[in-house]
Amino acid sequence: MIFASTRGRSATVGFREAVFRGLADDGGLYHPTTTPDLGGLFRSLDAEAPFVETARRVSLALFADELGTGSVERIARAAFTFEPSLVPVDERRMLLELFHGPSYAFKDFGAAFLAAAMEEMIADGGGEAVILVATSGDTGSAVARAFHGRRGIRVVILYPSGRVSRLQEMQLTTVGGNVTALEVKGSFDDCQRMVKEAFLDRGLARDLHLTSANSISLGRLLPQAFYYIHAATVLRRGRAGDPAPWFCVPSGNFGNLTAGVYAWRWGLPVAGFVAATNVNDVVPEYLESGVFRPRPSVQTLSNAMDVGNPSNFERLLAIFGGSVERMKAAIRPEVVSDAETLATIREASMHSGLLLDPHTAVGWKATERLIKEMEKAEGRFRGRVIILATAHPAKFLETMREATGREIELPAGLQAALRATKRSIVVDNTLEGLRQVLRGLPAA
Ligand SMILES: *Cc1c(COP(=O)(O)O)cnc(C)c1O
Repeated sequence: MIFASTRGRSATVGFREAVFRGLADDGGLYHPTTTPDLGGLFRSLDAEAPFVETARRVSLALFADELGTGSVERIARAAFTFEPSLVPVDERRMLLELFHGPSYAFKDFGAAFLAAAMEEMIADGGGEAVILVATSGDTGSAVARAFHGRRGIRVVILYPSGRVSRLQEMQLTTVGGNVTALEVKGSFDDCQRMVKEAFLDRGLARDLHLTSANSISLGRLLPQAFYYIHAATVLRRGRAGDPAPWFCVPSGNFGNLTAGVYAWRWGLPVAGFVAATNVNDVVPEYLESGVFRPRPSVQTLSNAMDVGNPSNFERLLAIFGGSVERMKAAIRPEVVSDAETLATIREASMHSGLLLDPHTAVGWKATERLIKEMEKAEGRFRGRVIILATAHPAKFLETMREATGREIELPAGLQAALRATKRSIVVDNTLEGLRQVLRGLPAA
């Protein structure tokens, strides 16, 4: 595949270059310049096969030209040691649980593929790299776990001291090995600024081979298409004549949804997408008014979706040729408030025994509205909706307690993180503080 900048003023690049550069020179995001037709491949996938097999076959179709068959197979196998799980709820709804990876959220899929791809590409070139990430909580632990133990790579994670939950902090600071946690005396914005400044320090960036692993990376985005393909394949088993499914996606930065739209454009049969957001509704507003009005984010219970200027909007615009009408034909917006989120968690737990984390609950509520509106319009809703379950409910103990009045049991991996020994380096919120730590890192 060949990738170009969404702003169109930068040279086209291959996957390797797109991954190591992150952002294009003109400030745009990389996106595919062509739309491969993978419909035949999708139909030939085995519905009984494990996820890693689907991932392997789609990865080969996308990347083997550039990276070679052997490399791509190694990447897919090394990345996916965990599986998504498609759980039927009733005739019309099922949950695609994406939280069975090492950090208990869907970001594990993208992070795992990126880490395995970087390890393979670095080993190929005989080099090494330092990954710098600023985190406000969740992304950092997915990245830390994905890169742990990868050869030739060191990871430095900056998080704001005292401003992440205890569970998040323990997930970040107990990985060890090639992962260093920096506890910054400052805010998340300070962490982001320090990372930016480090990249702008040419000498430092060059000497240490600084690389980013943030959410705009194509190496994280594209593999998220794999679980849409896997879910549709599993659903098709024994029911070839059924209508194509809907996908409902709890969205913030819109990476997850964009990956699903890519899968659809490559030939996956999809009835439509529901973009479910909390009150940070910049994209739903655009779909209704045609005006994109980014603004500061508002804090909500589904805080991983508190995004006021979703970066992947540029990629969505590119897919739909800048046409709001075309985007609307594929994506239905739904906005869900915190009060509705709490009520949804409570009702799903009482009536169906389901434990929905606050992000998945936004998707659940949006799906209820979709089904109601379709019934109004068509008398009966014959379709099926796959709701992406993006995080394990145990990551949000307080909200779950407030909504259900019950305590949730922590999965083993989270219990282990809480028992482990915290290791962090405390630094001032200055580039000098970061520079000293980076210069002092042992070799990878
Ligand atoms: C990041 C995140 C989201 C939002 O995904 P985007 O790709 O940013 O739209 C939703 N739920 C959870 C739990 C997340 O961590």
